[in-house]
Amino acid sequence: MATKQNGKFKVARYGVLGGTFDPIHNAHLHVAVVALEELNLDKIIFIPSGIPPHKAKHEVTRADHRLMMTTLAINGNDNFFVSETEVNRAGESYTIQTMRELRDENFSAAEFYFIVGADAFTQIETWAMYEDLLKITKFVVVTRTGSDNKTLDETIEKYKNNFGADIYKISIPNLEISSTDIRSRIKRGKNVEYLIPAVVVEYIRKYNIYKN
Ligand code: NAP
Repeated sequence: MATKQNGKFKVARYGVLGGTFDPIHNAHLHVAVVALEELNLDKIIFIPSGIPPHKAKHEVTRADHRLMMTTLAINGNDNFFVSETEVNRAGESYTIQTMRELRDENFSAAEFYFIVGADAFTQIETWAMYEDLLKITKFVVVTRTGSDNKTLDETIEKYKNNFGADIYKISIPNLEISSTDIRSRIKRGKNVEYLIPAVVVEYIRKYNIYKN
């Protein structure tokens, strides 16, 4: 929403962090913190996917559990919000649809920055209507410190030239935390404390998620 500051309207700038979040972990949260700081964003909206188009359906935990784990993880941070839009939408969760919805709901009173890891971004040509997505959405690509960025830089340059895309890069320390590893540790009865927020550990225990 646009707010008035020193007599002028200021357009709100929201980061959007989409993910399967199966489960959400501390690297996801750190990415959100760094994006907020580096790009001076007003808020971060976490959007758990309903049915992720790029993952086989049987692999993914129920959307209500992933939504609740995300909600618990961000609880207490006034700059973080969760959106249920993809979870409530029938069918697969296409980012183009989500970003169009956000844009249409807010007219031109807000700018949206889709935050995405470098690995996911390099697959963007497999996403639905990716060319349109690059035209209507600003992107924040998260790189891991020390990783080779040459190919990524070339890709970003290509999208800027071809589609007039607005793409920013931020770098975070290489946190070797992955949802796949967390699921595997839980299945093997290993400890996942300090990889995910304590409230999420409790939730997973309570509902016996990732045991099978
Ligand atoms: P995810 O595994 O839950 O992770 C969410 C984001 O966090 C990803 O961008 C991921 O980047 C990043 N991340 C995870 N672990 C990290 C770590 N240790 N350090 C730094 N970054 C880390 O999400 P996802 O399933 O890949 O989906 C990402 C978004 O892309 C979702 O919103 C999804 O809907 C969207 N998507 C859309 C389409 C489509 O519209 N057709 C297709 C595919 C994906 P990395 O991949 O680099 O780890």
